Amino acid sequence: MKRERRVKVVATLGPASNTSETITALFEAGADVFRINMSHTPQDELKRLHAVIRDVEKTVGRPISVLVDLQGPKFRIGTFKDERIELRHGDAFTLDTKDRPGDQKRVFLPHPEIFEGVSKGDRLLLNDGRQELLVTAASKTTIKTKVVHGGELSDRKGVSLPDTILPVTPLTPKDRSDLEYALNLDIDWIALSFVQRPDDIAECRKITAGKAAIMAKIEKPAALKNLDEIIEQSDGIMVARGDLGVELPIEQVPGLQKRLTRAARRTGTPVVVATQMLESMIEAPVPTRAEVSDVSTAVFEGADAIMLSAESAMGTYPDRAVAMMDKIAREVEQDPYYTQTIHAQRPQPEPTTADAISAAARSAAETLNLAAIVCYTSTGSTGLRAARERPETPIIALTPIPATGRRLALVWGIHCVLTADARDQDDMVDRAARISIEEGFAAANERIAIMAGLPLGTPGATNMLRIAHAMRPR
Ligand code: PGA
Ligand code: MN
Repeated sequence: MKRERRVKVVATLGPASNTSETITALFEAGADVFRINMSHTPQDELKRLHAVIRDVEKTVGRPISVLVDLQGPKFRIGTFKDERIELRHGDAFTLDTKDRPGDQKRVFLPHPEIFEGVSKGDRLLLNDGRQELLVTAASKTTIKTKVVHGGELSDRKGVSLPDTILPVTPLTPKDRSDLEYALNLDIDWIALSFVQRPDDIAECRKITAGKAAIMAKIEKPAALKNLDEIIEQSDGIMVARGDLGVELPIEQVPGLQKRLTRAARRTGTPVVVATQMLESMIEAPVPTRAEVSDVSTAVFEGADAIMLSAESAMGTYPDRAVAMMDKIAREVEQDPYYTQTIHAQRPQPEPTTADAISAAARSAAETLNLAAIVCYTSTGSTGLRAARERPETPIIALTPIPATGRRLALVWGIHCVLTADARDQDDMVDRAARISIEEGFAAANERIAIMAGLPLGTPGATNMLRIAHAMRPR
């Protein structure tokens, strides 16, 4: 089974997609990665879903990636005496540390760390950005504000602080508990919400200790200031357009999406574009023209993966939404403008052997019209460098390590196959040739490129490029 596209599809699981049948249907429609959102999933349900996915993986015989998305520090106000109030432009409104029901003048804010971090002139956005407050004075117990955008405010609405660097790590006690639980299940990717600084990733990495790859969700203005360092510390990033569009003016999101995608591509870090990609398909069997255009933009930019949230988790048409993404991606990738755009944005190889070999493999494969670039990779890093080239030729990654195959399921253009390390150079060629044919990439009379490291099986030793005929071993 191989996909007819290079970009990968991430599908979030939820009530509409929590059985073996529905998850299989999503995989068959094109989902390569399943995301489990810990904001809405109890731990025992994560465990059950993980087991179902691994069963499906066994049945379909392809590596499937499991992405566990931690909730992060999501802030909420307390409650009101009458459940709701109406804020008017110019009103004074106070948030404080007194745990009692609010009124027209004040409300409880149960997050001491906000009082630590906030200062005069910062904005407080409430209720997905619908209301805006400007801080006029702040102390350890009281935040005085003036209403900039009014409207109805009700119990426990969310609070965003786009201007404030908060003295919190992105790992709340709930996140730590969810993270440890997830790592014991053998999952592949952890997504960290509301990352602000490179240290946030380092802190998470101490806990993951190599057991999962770390994806930084870029959804805070503070993260944009430290973007290069955050990308360097992360194994992947997500353009989390939902919260990004609350914390920043929504009209800046498209430009940021390009900036983030290109920054990640430059370093060869996988990048996922997320949120509201086919939003109307939560209820409708077909998307809007604008949504189709939005998905195609992410594909044209060469993103590694495009993501569905509520569309697949709780929509009426989960597998149709995946199939629609698949169709859009296949069409875009056959468009003549696609190759041009991808080529124009191709980063220079870095001065490493792996990059020199990856660039040479792409060049040889395109010049000779080879059937596939086969790369032997143990940790997956050679696979990532090969994908960074965004070659027109399909990439087959061969690894003996299931966890590597699963992580690479999220990465642009990589078709990963689990196989033992090659015994010697003849076996290396025979194995690559046989798998290229078996997996439907090459015919017997075609040629392939092979990237590998000598001595065989040494991680990080990619130093060899070979062009070979894809004939079955004698
Ligand atoms: P969320 O993250 O769905 O967990 O909020 C994605 C986003 O903010 O876009
Ligand atoms: Mn978010």
